[in-house]
Amino acid sequence: MKDERGILFILSGPSGVGKGTVRKSLFEKDPALEYSISVTTREPREGERNGIDYFFKKREEVQKMIEADELIEYAEYVGNYYGTPKEYVEKTLDEGKDVFLEIEVQGAMKVRENFPEGVFIFLFPPSLEVLKNRIINRGTETEDLVLNRLKEAQKEIDMMDAYDYVVVNDEVEKAVARIQSIVVSEHCKRERV
Ligand code: 5GP
Repeated sequence: MKDERGILFILSGPSGVGKGTVRKSLFEKDPALEYSISVTTREPREGERNGIDYFFKKREEVQKMIEADELIEYAEYVGNYYGTPKEYVEKTLDEGKDVFLEIEVQGAMKVRENFPEGVFIFLFPPSLEVLKNRIINRGTETEDLVLNRLKEAQKEIDMMDAYDYVVVNDEVEKAVARIQSIVVSEHCKRERV
């Protein structure tokens, strides 16, 4: 079979759909996949480690990376920068390994422009009602912020048609199995002698 570049998979979807949980479970099951660690300006949460969960950076550092064109995409999300380092993704794809990004919807649409050959997966809640409850039950947020997040979620859902696949996150294990099938199927599509 032809020596191929790895495939770039973009896992995205509305806030509160459970992207992080699904991504972690996928990587436990499939250690051969490579996860692109993002840079962010937000503070680490308890238990998060620099260089594992994120590269935690100062705002000026991320701004410099943006100016030097070192990010494939970046977005401002709830007051912080999040971005995908270019060098790691390019190098790993060149080594023939598949790379996964787990990013929000604005960023995913920017990746679409630069990596049209990427495989875009939209993680969808079992229903809008479930998503609404998840956002409301996150706890600490004011009513205004909850309403804003719900509006944002609706805008994000409206982007669904721009994706190659929609995976319903009814149960994490099932969602992971569906994503694994997508990985297999995308490799089969590209198998040529
Ligand atoms: P959190 O702060 O909860 O870790 O992440 C907030 C949001 O940012 C999540 O939707 C997550 O998928 C997204 N995110 C994480 N890394 C990146 C990135 O590199 N680029 C973009 N555009 N979004 C990201």
